[in-house]
Amino acid sequence: MVRPADGIDLGLWPITPSELVIPVDTHIHRISRNLGLTNRRTATWATAEEITAALRKFDPDDPVKYDFALCHLGVSRDCPSRPDPDKCERCVLQDVCSVWTTGRERESAKKARELRL
Ligand code: SF4
Repeated sequence: MVRPADGIDLGLWPITPSELVIPVDTHIHRISRNLGLTNRRTATWATAEEITAALRKFDPDDPVKYDFALCHLGVSRDCPSRPDPDKCERCVLQDVCSVWTTGRERESAKKARELRL
């Protein structure tokens, strides 16, 4: 509604994309926590503002344009709640994902313990 009419967007609302705040559903909240866009445990307005501020670093003119891509990771179940090598090892976000890095560290520690036994 706010982006210029281009056949997909309608450009009907008189505000700029930079003024938008990301809608935080369960997918956006979880994946934003995975990626360090927020550490907040609840999906509140403050969380939405914090995620939007983090996304603004990537595109100050349209920080919410990442909404569909982030949400779709959750909706499509391509981003698991726990580390899943089948999905995470081919994920381009793994270097910045706390679920993957924490899980990998946990797995490495477990293997090290097993080797010592
Ligand atoms: S590494 Fe795994 S958990 Fe992290 S964002 Fe990618 S798919 Fe999701």
